[in-house]
Amino acid sequence: MLELVGSHGAELVAMTADPDTGLRAIVAIDSTVLGPSLGGTRFRPFATEEEALTDVLRLARGMTYKHAVCGNALGGGKAVIIGDPATLRSDALLRAYGAFVDRLGGRYLTAEDVGTTQADMDFLRTVTPFVTGASEAAGGSGDPSPATAWGVFHAMRAVAERLWGDPSLEGRHVAVSGVGKVGGALVRHLAEAGARLTVADVRAGAAAAVAAGWGATAVPAPAIHTVDCDIFSPCALGAVLDEATIPELRCAAVCGCANNQLATDADGERLAARGVLYAPDYVVNAGGVINIAVELEAGGYDRDRAWARIERIGDTLRDVFEIADRDGVTPAVAADRLARARLDTARPAAQPS
Ligand code: NAD
Repeated sequence: MLELVGSHGAELVAMTADPDTGLRAIVAIDSTVLGPSLGGTRFRPFATEEEALTDVLRLARGMTYKHAVCGNALGGGKAVIIGDPATLRSDALLRAYGAFVDRLGGRYLTAEDVGTTQADMDFLRTVTPFVTGASEAAGGSGDPSPATAWGVFHAMRAVAERLWGDPSLEGRHVAVSGVGKVGGALVRHLAEAGARLTVADVRAGAAAAVAAGWGATAVPAPAIHTVDCDIFSPCALGAVLDEATIPELRCAAVCGCANNQLATDADGERLAARGVLYAPDYVVNAGGVINIAVELEAGGYDRDRAWARIERIGDTLRDVFEIADRDGVTPAVAADRLARARLDTARPAAQPS
């Protein structure tokens, strides 16, 4: 294992290679100012190790901000395993990866991410205790998607309150792009709250099934962002808000779970210029990491405690909008300021100079 302290702007970058299993992995610990770093393990082919390193550093920094803004006592970290999980994954490789995580001594706690599964987390738990988001049967908090959806729902209530003076979503028209694990659960909460729904998914059958189940209208996936609605909710891929799509929006607000919705920082300004209220993605979709934070608290995971904390995403979003008003900046910039303020407040105690 190679450990690089203070490298690339992160607190620690650790790399390992195990020729016996083909494991090549990088852990980036961006910050432990608020607590041990926590973020998922992404298992995917990267063209080069440089590309993997760039990605893991960027993702770890994102986790620092996400934990800080939602009030978790956790720091930012992330890991990548380089390779195609369909061909490279083996118990031996995961065992070697678990041993690598274990050697970091709890400074990095891992979780599921793109390319890894809950079954992988259950397996890793047999190798190291520094694993979160294992199945409930294995003592973890299980699939984070319902928690994430609950957070998006409460973020939308804060958006409604901001725009229309009332958090109720009854009669509000929400267009949901992507009805997978989070989007599907969100649609149910919205339908139960009396919202009017339009849905889309590249899996047209999935959209049709959700539409039939909840009295929604299904539209083709490429058209969903153009629907005339109150709230557009991206719940599929990132980078959906760009110079081509933003002029086509016909919504008052954007609030969804997809990561990295803004293609560039300038798109936050573009939304503001069009008068569209943007609820920053990493504030909105923090329900999953709040759920995991509860798993780590004394007494272990408790769903009611987790759900109550997730509801506070609405309060965080209200704070973000207030900072945006106070400082005359976009909500995306305001969210970063709120996160940085929490890190700055914690830093003197945690890191005496
Ligand atoms: P998922 O794979 O279960 O669902 C995504 C859905 O989007 C699928 O049904 C897919 O067919 C559909 N889709 C893909 N491309 C599309 C397109 N161009 N237009 C419309 N639909 C499209 O994933 P998920 O777990 O529901 O996560 C959705 C998003 O939220 C991802 O960006 C993920 O990174 C982010 N997120 C998820 C969680 C979580 O707890 N699962 C937490 C934070 C962020």
